[in-house]
Amino acid sequence: MQPFAYNAPATRVIFGSGTRARLADEVRRLSCRRALLLSTAPQRGEADALAADLGALAAGVFAEAAMHTPVDVTARAVAQARALDADCVVAIGGGSATGLGKAIALHTDLPQIVLPTTYAGSEATAILGQTEGGRKTTLRNAKVQPEVIIYDVDLTLTLPPQQSAVSGLNAIAHAVEALYAHDRNPVTSLIAGEAIRRFAQSLPKLMAAAGDRDARSDALYAAWLCGCCLNAVSMGLHHKLCHTLGGMFDLPHAETHAVILPHAVAYNTPAAADAMQHIALALGATDASAGLFDLAHRLARRPRLPRWECKHRTSTARRRLLSKRPIQIHGRSRCRRFERCSTTRCTACGQCLHRAAGRPRMRDFDEHNITRAVIDSLAQTGDARLKTVMTSLVRHLHDFVRDVEISFEEWSAAIDFLTRTGQMCSDKRQEFILLSDTLGVSMLVDAINHRMPEGATETTVLGPFFVAAAPELPFGADISGGIEGEKLSVNGVVCASDGRPLAEATVHVWHADDDGYYDVQQADLQSLAMRARFRTDRDGRFAFTSIMPAFYPIPHDGPVGEMLEALGRHPYRPAHVHFMIAAEGYETLITHIFDAESPYLDSDAVFGVKNSLIAPFPRDDRSGKVQRGLSYRFGLKPLPNAAQLV
Ligand code: NAD
Repeated sequence: MQPFAYNAPATRVIFGSGTRARLADEVRRLSCRRALLLSTAPQRGEADALAADLGALAAGVFAEAAMHTPVDVTARAVAQARALDADCVVAIGGGSATGLGKAIALHTDLPQIVLPTTYAGSEATAILGQTEGGRKTTLRNAKVQPEVIIYDVDLTLTLPPQQSAVSGLNAIAHAVEALYAHDRNPVTSLIAGEAIRRFAQSLPKLMAAAGDRDARSDALYAAWLCGCCLNAVSMGLHHKLCHTLGGMFDLPHAETHAVILPHAVAYNTPAAADAMQHIALALGATDASAGLFDLAHRLARRPRLPRWECKHRTSTARRRLLSKRPIQIHGRSRCRRFERCSTTRCTACGQCLHRAAGRPRMRDFDEHNITRAVIDSLAQTGDARLKTVMTSLVRHLHDFVRDVEISFEEWSAAIDFLTRTGQMCSDKRQEFILLSDTLGVSMLVDAINHRMPEGATETTVLGPFFVAAAPELPFGADISGGIEGEKLSVNGVVCASDGRPLAEATVHVWHADDDGYYDVQQADLQSLAMRARFRTDRDGRFAFTSIMPAFYPIPHDGPVGEMLEALGRHPYRPAHVHFMIAAEGYETLITHIFDAESPYLDSDAVFGVKNSLIAPFPRDDRSGKVQRGLSYRFGLKPLPNAAQLV
């Protein structure tokens, strides 16, 4: 083993959930009595809450911490600390609040307690970056190393997913560069690998569920490890570049790291092959830069510097600036030299690094980099919504294939299934709608698009048997088309969601017969039956008679039926009547009313049943002939957002 030196900082670390409750004890433990609480303005509420918890131990709150620790803010904070006779500082927040605490400590030697709420890792370092007149300088001084870190996982739950992602990538950058630092040692390499591994596993979980405490816990622990790396060894090209660009163009800190990191790693791979292998292994990838690209992609969108932040940077101006301040890296660093930008694009220095790395990306695809390549190929899509939809589709489709490790046979069976589903479609049969219905997708789309206000009738699936050309019939008409069955009498009222009746609304109705077949499924029927179109009268009423529909199986003699059988599912739907109701100024309502006595209400093959849509169809035999009835009041949701369908 190579000889090495390792300095372990004397910082006390408390880690867990609810640990902020231990703050008062920690203040007393430092023999302090008057803590000045520090935060950014948006996190003033958290600082105030801590002050309330501390009671007499709190001297005051200073909530003006800002990114990159501007020296004028520090001067005001130091003055306040002195005026309040504070004997320690307590910083709650990300690197900005921590940085302010460190800057105060530099001037006053006050001990610091930090409660981190991002993954920046600054709390674990003796490093302080400060800005004055647009120029950022960094110093290392034992005076700024915080005495106590209280990691409370609960404080990170509010960090929005996208911010968690870039903050996590910012932290990963510390661990990545620790692995090829010239002064690295076995301890930091061990810590760095573990930190990258924990982040790679926890960050995607946070994007899916920001409140996942286990993932939050892993990410916060990893953030501490990354901070330890940053503290223990020298950073290289990536940090220098982010530092230079960030200071020069006032770029957001974490986002800049997140954008540059995969490019910097790609560029530096030839200089530190062993470190790159370690990084790839920790990421579960075959290649370090590809693994970081993929991770950034998985964390929602690839982090980008917002356009407005780049708009003033012509390539000439940027080159001039950068050539005045070249990227200087430690002589013994295992980093490739990088002196000036060469791209004419203004999106980030990553473009230059990438080009300089000379690593063609449109080839040599494997399971780790193909998703990124496909998503990159969508870059020129003009329609922003199409791009969003296709990017998500590609990501989820690839994740699905990876998740189940699909075999060739399974994939070709899936393609055959979809082909036959398409071939089954005709003007009378829509197998794709059945597929969407039976997989619950139709109801999911419906639920997302029809969030109903109170008083509006709930929606459900359209189903495959709607016929737009159904005849318009008068109030009270018999729509049975002569088909035999138990008589049904329907009385409906169409209202606005506030209860006002709606005249002249168009009401399409359609239903199955007492064997469960719609007219369009019966080859021997010469005309449409059990369907019609009505117009509501001045009181919003419509009425018709027909026959009682029965529960029925959805068409199951095609690929969808095969699928249901293979899954051990039945194809039945409970008995119902369909309604499609349109009125000017209102969202068109597509719904069913289900017979409360029907079987399959709790296992509808298309997941369409909602409690509010189940109604009694009571029996009435006063006329001597048994007849069923249905009375229902329909409520329509006002436009303007949705377009009417009919
Ligand atoms: P930040 O501290 O500026 O936080 C960004 C924003 O997020 C702020 O408005 C903050 O109030 C808010 N925020 C923080 N935690 C939140 C939470 N849990 N819920 C909701 N909102 C929350 O940003 P940062 O990326 O954590 O830190 C960046 C700063 O830290 C930079 O100045 C950088 O130079 C410095 N830094 C220093 C070191 C070091 O060792 N000296 C290391 C890393 C970063």
